[in-house]
Order: sequence, then structure tokens, then C-alpha cells
Amino acid sequence: MNLPLCYFGNPILREKAKPVTTFDTELEKLGNDMIATMREEAGIGLAGPQIGKSLRIFTMEVPPEMDEDEKGQPHNPGLESPLVVVNPEIEIVGDDEEEMEEGCLSIPEVRGKVTRPFAIKLRYQNVKGEEKALALQGLAARCVQHETDHLNGVLFIDYLSSVKKMSIKGKLKRIKQNYG
Ligand SMILES: [Zn+2]
Repeated sequence: MNLPLCYFGNPILREKAKPVTTFDTELEKLGNDMIATMREEAGIGLAGPQIGKSLRIFTMEVPPEMDEDEKGQPHNPGLESPLVVVNPEIEIVGDDEEEMEEGCLSIPEVRGKVTRPFAIKLRYQNVKGEEKALALQGLAARCVQHETDHLNGVLFIDYLSSVKKMSIKGKLKRIKQNYG
């Protein structure tokens, strides 16, 4: 089942989402519905608040061909995909950072360059409540950081330069008016 999206201007996107404490069939269904919605909207990640659930859950599906190093080797070989992540905890690995253009399903037609750590360790629970850990780099690591930000009420536009922020002001206003 596809779920309706929440857009910039909706206060739920600025709330700190609550930890998931109940691991039942309802949570499993939510994960499946979020995957369906993410695919329908052609996104690579979708967080709970974006579909009106202030819960610490997100889904991710990064196409491997979008996540390779300069030599064409996959950054994250064997990564389960799509992935449902519950109660994520991120640890930054190393000092490498990378700048890359990001977008967000909740902020249509706005894109901007964001600098983020290149490699992370992700601890999380799956929909059954089992503890999991993943070492990630490249686009998947970026996606996890973007989605975990959503669970803390942070949006990628918060990282943009003040000049860039000024330049997207009109677009943000239109999103608020059209989707709010
Ligand atoms: Zn987003």
C-alpha cells in the first residue's frame, strides 16, 4: 500500500521521532508500505516522519550501480536491499568527507550539495527487533545519514550555504503553499 507523503512545511518533519518499542506485524506492514511508497516515488530512502509516522524507522534502496568507486567497484557489496532500518545509531568511521548533491522526496525540485562523512558504522534493529550492524560507505552511508537526520527533525537544506538557502527560498515557499 502506498502512503501519502508529508512535505516541507509540515511540522512533523521538524519533530524528533520516537524510538520503536513494539516489533509486531503492524511494524512489518509499515516497513513494506514504506518500501512500496519509496519505489512509487522513485526515492532511494524514506523516513517515518515523511509518511506522517513520528517513529525511528526508515527504508533504503540504493541501486548498486549508483554506489561505486572510481574503478567501478561497488562501495557496499552484498548490502541487503531494500533495507528496513529501525532505531538507527550512527558512528562516523575515519576522517573522509565527501560533497554530493542531495534531494528529498519531502522537498520536491530542490537539490543542493551537502558534505558528509564518507564511511559510517550503522547499528540498528530489523522489523523483528533483532540487533544488526553494517559498515557502509559512499552513497548508502550518505543515505543512512540523510534518513537518520529526518528522525531528528533535520533536513538536508539545513546544511546548505546561506547563499544557496537564499536562492531556494521561493521554491520552499511554493512547496509550503502547494502541499501544506
Ligand atoms: Zn529526505
